[in-house]
Amino acid sequence: MLVFTSEDCSGHVNPPGHPERVERLRAVEAGLAGLAVERRECPLGEEAEVLRCHPAGYLAAVKGAVPEAGWAQLDGDTFLSPGSFRAAMRAVGGICAAVDAVVAGGGAAFVAGRPPGHHAEAARAMGFCLFGTVAIGAMRALDAHGLARVAIVDFDVHHGNGTQDVLWDEGRCLFASSHQMPLYPGSGDPSEVGAHCQVLNVPLRGGTGGAAMRAAYERLILPAVADWRPDLLLVSAGFDAHAADPLAGLEWEAADYAWLAARLWEVSGGRMVSTLEGGYDLDALAASVGAYVGELARRAA
Ligand SMILES: [Zn+2]
Repeated sequence: MLVFTSEDCSGHVNPPGHPERVERLRAVEAGLAGLAVERRECPLGEEAEVLRCHPAGYLAAVKGAVPEAGWAQLDGDTFLSPGSFRAAMRAVGGICAAVDAVVAGGGAAFVAGRPPGHHAEAARAMGFCLFGTVAIGAMRALDAHGLARVAIVDFDVHHGNGTQDVLWDEGRCLFASSHQMPLYPGSGDPSEVGAHCQVLNVPLRGGTGGAAMRAAYERLILPAVADWRPDLLLVSAGFDAHAADPLAGLEWEAADYAWLAARLWEVSGGRMVSTLEGGYDLDALAASVGAYVGELARRAA
């Protein structure tokens, strides 16, 4: 089990009071403490990897908006600090290196990067996200490695609208998302199925807890991934469905993330790359990451 991180990801600093804060990575480190994982540095990503999923004009606009001091604001809750572009490129490089390693040798990898990525649409930053990290990983697997079929599962409490937007017309990639609804960003209705019926949206009601989540995965998401027979499974691993999270209310517990790790690993075909998305209560984030990565480390070792 590989874990990719970079100190540069702490160089993305949001304004005071913002929930997506540097301390989240320290909480992730606390959760990983003592686990049997092999640590690797996220390399800096290449701009060509970003361009598989975003137009050149968008990449140039984000890069050009990075301030020399203070903040630049890209949407209501998405900010750039002087270190944000480098941080985002570490997250991109981390997922590409993780995909490379897992495609070559099998097993599981977890990328603990910031900023998160699943709300970034092809040409629009939103929801704390700049580039579609998990989609970039999927496109690297398809286009650089020539894999025929990949799948993405997104269990962040918010819908992965950006991943869905970037991969809407990508028939080689299944995108399956569970998310609280109604909730930000508002998309993720089951009627949104992608250009090739390769998108599966599974909304969950607030307050329904881990039992409802497990039932929905057993009935819909796990069979869809198994039927897809992916050459690689990517996971948008957000931990903000936890009961203690301040941004949502699905009421999951750390044990639910261990269950997800076990069941997703079973349908992964033996190659699984997870990347950090949300999770805003620091203690819950530490416990959830520990449960999730710990379970994967036991199974994928
Ligand atoms: Zn989220």
